[in-house]
Amino acid sequence: MKKKVIAIDGPAGSGKSTVARRLARKLKAPYLDTGAMYRALTYLALTKKVSLKNAKAMETLARRARIDLQSQATGPSRISINGLDVTRQIRMPELTKKVHHVAAIPGVRRQLVLLQRRLGKRHGGVVEGRDIGTVVFPDTPYKFYLDADISERVRRRYDELKAKGVKVTLRQVTQDQKRRDGRDLRRKVAPLRQAPDAFIIDTTQLTIPQVVGRIARLILASRGDAKVLKPRSRRRHRG
Ligand code: C5P
Repeated sequence: MKKKVIAIDGPAGSGKSTVARRLARKLKAPYLDTGAMYRALTYLALTKKVSLKNAKAMETLARRARIDLQSQATGPSRISINGLDVTRQIRMPELTKKVHHVAAIPGVRRQLVLLQRRLGKRHGGVVEGRDIGTVVFPDTPYKFYLDADISERVRRRYDELKAKGVKVTLRQVTQDQKRRDGRDLRRKVAPLRQAPDAFIIDTTQLTIPQVVGRIARLILASRGDAKVLKPRSRRRHRG
């Protein structure tokens, strides 16, 4: 039997990681964080002193890397690359700033998409990223695109960093967020896009449980019929 893949895409701060994780738990399905893969590969390249701009070397690194992801009861999945647990290291702000170099390399994306498809086909589950509904699993009927106003996304990120004890100002977070949005949207390969058949949810005024509940209800009500999940409102990405 074909496993159900639920694609969750959206910009940073849209709430998609927390939503995807909790949705997976609610549906008792696996959770696949594809951003963590790009992050782990960036970490590996930095430790091996491979230039992040060397497309050929980066593709080779991606092809040979062994990436393992493991969901946890709470918090982000544990991730290891070539046997090394990098769960904590890949969330550092300095690394976050560099991931875009790696995510822009077509050969790297090819390798990681192969791995994502393999895992998704084998286990199904909630798959979260930027290009899941457009590139990785374009045929799944379950596609959700989460978005929120930039000021709300900045506030969420700021609170998250503060909670981790990272010293930042609201202005720095705003600049970082806008830069990341721009890079994700303008990337030549697999840029952040709403799939035409994605169900769009503006999370600006919603709590995480509200978003999770809405998605879970839609999935259950649809019983696999994509027509039930017809997109409601379409809007331009506000950055
Ligand atoms: O989701 P997260 O912020 O952890 O992703 C880290 C980076 O990886 C993002 O800035 C994005 O550019 C990239 N990414 C991507 N495609 C995905 C997931 C993440 O390009 N499917």
